[in-house]
Amino acid sequence: MKGLILWQNIIVKESCGVFGVYAPGAPVSHMTFDGLFTLQHRGQESAGMAISDGETITVFKDMGLVSNVFDEHTLASLQGFLAIGHTRYSTTGSSTWRNAQPAYRPLGSAGFALGHNGNLTNTEVIAEEIGMLPGVVTTDSDILAELIAQKFAESNFDENSSNGLKDTLLEVLPKVEGAFSLVVMDAFRLVGIRDPNGLRPLCLGELVETGIDGKQRVVGWVLASESPALKVIGARFVREIEPGEMVVIDEGGSKSYRPFELSSVESKLCIFEFVYFARPDAVLYGKEVHGARRRMGELLAKEHPVEADMVMGVPDSGVPAAEGFAKYSGIPYGQGLVKNRYIGRTFIDPTPEARFNSVRRKLSPLVENITSKKLVVVDDSFVRGTTSKALVKMLKDSGAKEVHMRFSSPPFKWPCFYGIDIPSREELVAAHVPLEEIADLIGADSVGFLSLDQLVLAIDEPGSKFCDGCLTGIYPSKVPNDENVELAKLKS
Ligand code: AMP
Repeated sequence: MKGLILWQNIIVKESCGVFGVYAPGAPVSHMTFDGLFTLQHRGQESAGMAISDGETITVFKDMGLVSNVFDEHTLASLQGFLAIGHTRYSTTGSSTWRNAQPAYRPLGSAGFALGHNGNLTNTEVIAEEIGMLPGVVTTDSDILAELIAQKFAESNFDENSSNGLKDTLLEVLPKVEGAFSLVVMDAFRLVGIRDPNGLRPLCLGELVETGIDGKQRVVGWVLASESPALKVIGARFVREIEPGEMVVIDEGGSKSYRPFELSSVESKLCIFEFVYFARPDAVLYGKEVHGARRRMGELLAKEHPVEADMVMGVPDSGVPAAEGFAKYSGIPYGQGLVKNRYIGRTFIDPTPEARFNSVRRKLSPLVENITSKKLVVVDDSFVRGTTSKALVKMLKDSGAKEVHMRFSSPPFKWPCFYGIDIPSREELVAAHVPLEEIADLIGADSVGFLSLDQLVLAIDEPGSKFCDGCLTGIYPSKVPNDENVELAKLKS
């Protein structure tokens, strides 16, 4: 039992952007670069791609941003008709080359590669099954790759048979629990998989060519965490991969499979994808995210009205909701902060002081526009309170008369087990401090949070179609036995 607990402590969390393309005759490595570049916001720690020319799979990955990892020279040398790519989202202290993806396993002459977005919740069980020694630091993607590799080997995998990868995945996937949107490839085929709750997004696109007869034909397929990564390479959005679906793409086209028990399949997309994580131009549940964020701002103004001279958003993620707040309240919208475009994420800095200083480095006040004004400042979320505390001080030091903080989601109170790096519960302010005391704590004149009901209404998807575990502590599936959470509170 001790060994099992140890596993939980050393599995590295990962949430990320994934991309895959099957397009004979097309510049596949350049397409993968463009796709990953568009998904950069989903992970800035490392980037990588695996590409196949039908004989060899070449993997190239490194620490850093997509544009640092790949240059023209590298891309030109990566030749093939099929590729997957990955951008990795860091968690504090786990930033090493070893964790970069795609993960690769040699099998036969070419092997297979895998990219993962999400977080598995039963890694200790899988680790035991595949005989990994407790104490070995590893990642979810490594564990998954090892599981697939072992099952491949046991089943006398014939890599030229179209059934090798597919059959192994069909056998292996029901053993895996938690959040996983996966792109997997062998030398000949591309596979996209979404966990039974569809916790992380994944969509399918097609590349279309118009022939000399004027007819359109499909010449390639694309998988991506978010739809803008399809658009950037000229692919047409087909649909979101369904929760619990596996799509296999090869020279015969695309085929859909259902590897999971039907009873386990229930759509529960992470609500935070709508609030913060996804790009505003992404389409989730058939809707553009930006519109949902604007509606969050409108409903926030309705729920938490305040008299003020100007509404401003915290760039970039608070801006659409601020527009909505201004529209509903009739208070003029204006800019009160400039964001340094060249800065990375401040959220994961290790100490409170470093995070506080990083906010100052990232955001700077437009003094003339805010001085002597009563401000409504809209941000998307409240986690440790670092950003809002630093901002209120900055705005007041710059002459703002009043600062009213408004958030377009309820405050975080619970950990996320599905791939978003939410700090431990001790650090989540609202888990310990009553809401009425938060304004004082961050120095604001008032504070207001959009309620969960109104958030769901803004997204326009009534019913329980989301995972909101970080806000409610109610998770859609069994979660690891964490001291912060009463085990497995299941939403019926
Ligand atoms: P905090 O400063 O800890 O209250 O965090 C809230 C701020 O961090 C907001 O401005 C969010 O836009 C941003 N944020 C919230 N969650 C995340 C996350 N998982 N990764 C990166 N940034 C985040």
